[in-house]
Amino acid sequence: MPSIFIIPIEIGDDSYLEELGKSLSATFHIKTKIANIKVNLKETFDVRRSQYNSSLVLQQLIANPPRDAEKILGVVDVDLFIPILTFVFGEAQLGGIGAVVSMHRLHNRFYAMPENRELTAERLLKESVHELGHTFGLIHCTQPGCVMNSSTYVENIDQKSSEFCSICRRSLKKEEKGSVQKLFRFPWPGKKE
Ligand SMILES: [Zn+2]
Ligand SMILES: [Zn+2]
Repeated sequence: MPSIFIIPIEIGDDSYLEELGKSLSATFHIKTKIANIKVNLKETFDVRRSQYNSSLVLQQLIANPPRDAEKILGVVDVDLFIPILTFVFGEAQLGGIGAVVSMHRLHNRFYAMPENRELTAERLLKESVHELGHTFGLIHCTQPGCVMNSSTYVENIDQKSSEFCSICRRSLKKEEKGSVQKLFRFPWPGKKE
């Protein structure tokens, strides 16, 4: 059974992941499972920036994908960057298998505000849906509230929902059907065309 694999990578508190798995499963209609893939974060550390290179994390994450992995979502605590940006909340392969999200800047404490567990969980869900959306081929969307809006700051995450707008949902459906069909190579039950 193809699943979305959720991979905690050296995270201190993995208690967010079970709830995340349930919500992702409801969103993408695919089973999720929390699993282990060895990623050596040390090798992705940039001494000059004191941050971790998200593309290198992604590279390790997808090096040997498990057979039943439809998508792989890595979750880290550390601060991620790509060379052209100060930081990123996450990164994904457009139309690929892998995505990674960082919880570092999703906690209120990062902004010297009182922690709010529910808010952190909500931000994690939105960023995870967003990055997985990219792996299903979705690009950034300008529809207000759509989860595929790009987020530069945490305020942008808070302003959008965890849902796809109708346009994104339509392209996602096509993509979901396509990838499941590719895996099974027999007519997909419930297919209407
Ligand atoms: Zn994006
Ligand atoms: Zn959209």
